[in-house]
Amino acid sequence: MRSAASLVPESPLGAVGGKPTLGATELAKDLLARRAKQRRKMLGMVGTSYVVDALVLLVYAYAGVTAFTTGLAYLTCGLLSVAFFLALSEAKINDRFKEHHLVVQQTSVGLAIMLLFLYIAPEVGCVFLCSIFLVFTFAALRSTARQTMIGWTVATVGLAALFLLTDEPIAMPHGTPLERFATMLVFVLVLGRGMVVGLYSSSLHDSLYKRGLELKEAYKRIEELAELDELTGLLNRRSIMQALDEEMVRARRSNAPLTVALIDLDWFKRINDQYGHPTGDEVLRTFAITMFANIRSIDKFGRYGGEEFLLVLPETGNDTAKRTLDRLRAIIADLDWSAISPGMMVTISAGIATLRPEDAPDSLLARADSALYKAKDLGRNRVIVS
Ligand code: GH3
Ligand code: MG
Ligand code: MG
Repeated sequence: MRSAASLVPESPLGAVGGKPTLGATELAKDLLARRAKQRRKMLGMVGTSYVVDALVLLVYAYAGVTAFTTGLAYLTCGLLSVAFFLALSEAKINDRFKEHHLVVQQTSVGLAIMLLFLYIAPEVGCVFLCSIFLVFTFAALRSTARQTMIGWTVATVGLAALFLLTDEPIAMPHGTPLERFATMLVFVLVLGRGMVVGLYSSSLHDSLYKRGLELKEAYKRIEELAELDELTGLLNRRSIMQALDEEMVRARRSNAPLTVALIDLDWFKRINDQYGHPTGDEVLRTFAITMFANIRSIDKFGRYGGEEFLLVLPETGNDTAKRTLDRLRAIIADLDWSAISPGMMVTISAGIATLRPEDAPDSLLARADSALYKAKDLGRNRVIVS
């Protein structure tokens, strides 16, 4: 008796999986290009935000609240940080990291700039305090919960140092109409940028949703194009039906007999119930490889559905087919299934039908199916000819 376990291959017919598919490199290139484009857009928004802040600082400088150099220094620091991250991105260094936006690094630098200017120019502190909100709003677009907690803790430590260890007043200038105007600008522009970030986030959400739908469509198409059944490695239903069509044409052209057999595992539901679904799957794989190893190379064997299989036997008449199926039935029944699970027994029933001149695939299969029913009715583990 042969052991069932020794017959279970890693991938039954070795035809699924393995090598990367053609075009995978192109797909990866496309993904990296899209990521780089996203990063450019993100950094563009950050750069614009620094310019907006710098313009407000210039208004404050005009109002005499702070030096003109504050705005210029702030703009220089901000744009240098953006240029630095843009250079990393263009050099494709970001792609080496799982989180390619480098959110933690960008947030840290942004936060450091805000805290630095809060320290050196507290007379216009409201600008930098508000911008800290923006840094975090940007960060939240891409951060994990852990990154958010780390960012918040670092911000808390920095702000605590500034508020508790220095005694310079952190101001929100509003003494003159121009100062009030500039402060109003601070709030209005922060709100505006917050909204832009919100809109960007919802457009990201929309495009993710659209991509999800596209992926579903693509997956459906791949499934349609696939020829093999994922579980057993045999031909799938679509392919075995196509093989049947082709064999019918060939049989008619060459005037050769053609016989089909519908094969169903007996009491398979009980196997699932008793041993579990994964073991049921293993039984299907073992059955498939055993059958495949015991048929001719010209025979076509596929999974018709669930635990039902279709065997197409070209150049084979009724009697030969009956003998073949009886031999296969005995091989399956004699297999040492206890290697998969102690005490396990597996048998099959089959219904055979031979091609008639007037047959379409449906009528041929219908006869095989009713013969299979008869085999089940008569007690299973048998082969019936229609
Ligand atoms: P019968 O002898 O009359 O054929 O009885 P049966 O229990 O085999 O027939 P039934 O059609 O009631 O049950 C077939 C079972 O096959 C039900 C389903 O859960 C199981 N099945 C179908 N496809 C798979 C599969 O891919 N894996 C597993 N483990 N079970 C499957
Ligand atoms: Mg069954
Ligand atoms: Mg069935």
